Amino acid sequence: MVNYQSFLGIETSLLKSSEIRDLLKLTEGKKVISLAGGLPDPSTFPSEDIRKITDDIIRDESAQALQYSTTSGVMSFKKELVNLSKMRGISSINEDNIFVTVGSQEALFMIFNIFIDKGDYIAVENPSYLAALNILRARQPNFIGIDVDPQKGTNLDQLEAKLKELKRENKKLKMFYVIPTAQNPAGTTMNFDDRKRLLDLASEYDFIIMEDDAYGFLVFEGDSPAPLRALDKEGRVIYTSTFSKILSPGLRLGWVVAENDVIKELEIYKQNVDLHTPTLPQYIAREAIKRGVIMNNLPKVKSTYIEKRDVMLSAIEENFPKEAKWSHPVGGMFVFSWLPEKINATKMLEKAMNRGVAYVPGASFYHDYSGKNTMRLNFSYPSKEELKKGVEILSKVIKEEFSN
Ligand code: PMP
Repeated sequence: MVNYQSFLGIETSLLKSSEIRDLLKLTEGKKVISLAGGLPDPSTFPSEDIRKITDDIIRDESAQALQYSTTSGVMSFKKELVNLSKMRGISSINEDNIFVTVGSQEALFMIFNIFIDKGDYIAVENPSYLAALNILRARQPNFIGIDVDPQKGTNLDQLEAKLKELKRENKKLKMFYVIPTAQNPAGTTMNFDDRKRLLDLASEYDFIIMEDDAYGFLVFEGDSPAPLRALDKEGRVIYTSTFSKILSPGLRLGWVVAENDVIKELEIYKQNVDLHTPTLPQYIAREAIKRGVIMNNLPKVKSTYIEKRDVMLSAIEENFPKEAKWSHPVGGMFVFSWLPEKINATKMLEKAMNRGVAYVPGASFYHDYSGKNTMRLNFSYPSKEELKKGVEILSKVIKEEFSN
């Protein structure tokens, strides 16, 4: 047989498979409570509305909805995306500032590939979204990790100190990839003053910001703060969000809001990748916005997740060792825990899985694989019973590991 490994391109070998997907494979078919994934609760999908919308589209608009469409996205959908973005406080944009992607994952992939070269300086939160880090790792940049504190959030003092240091060395930060709202995995949300400060720093030190607002609509406690893009006066922020958490991840739809120059680059790039995002899902999501399906469904999504979050947090409070810290997320789908330093959550995983519970070791979320004592726990997908039981089992494993 042919040894394909010997034929692989150099850049391919830099791409890593997602640790979470690999992990989920290990739990398939086994009786393991998985706190590892990041799937939405399927009971939150507005299936009946989607069925009706799809019927209507196929009946009335199949000639267009089943056809090829434009690279930047279906115009009538982009109009609705302007409206949806306005609901996040992003105004003074029009359809030309919108670009439709196959999930926000594709948006991140394209933006990082368009802008980041080997050796460029890019700042990321420590921890940050694993699948974004994996794209970036393949670009071989110089990473600058910005710590995220469970209480204070993303440490902008540290960012400023690094910016000064780079300047002294005649170097320049190119981009900061940041998840300001319901951060995945840390669960923190950047306050308004920090958002302003970050934009001021971007202006002063002339870098661009890649803002990932995947959970912007999924803040279930208090108001969702305005995204950076809404406060941005210089067009420095490239914004992405997704339908995965508010409608259905299987539709694979995301979008970008950015200046025209960025949209043009995306257009050229995506023509080479896949011509355009599938047309039918764009029609479905357009109608879901237009008919109010998304906004009407959001209260149910939020109440489902707030209940589950609370079950998880109570179980953690009751059972975790007092030396551990954990996030109290106001949105999103994850609790992140900082365990006592002596615990290696990567090594502990096998033991936990043998006992019947899986989680994602936090090191994968650190660009430098530090954070060995951290773990990410998902509360959106497991049932409430599984959440309680899963945390109880996990706590026993942690305590054993701690007393060893
Ligand atoms: N960004 C963040 C922070 C995420 O958590 C996710 C999904 N887990 C994505 C981007 C990508 O989501 P999708 O491609 O489904 O839009």
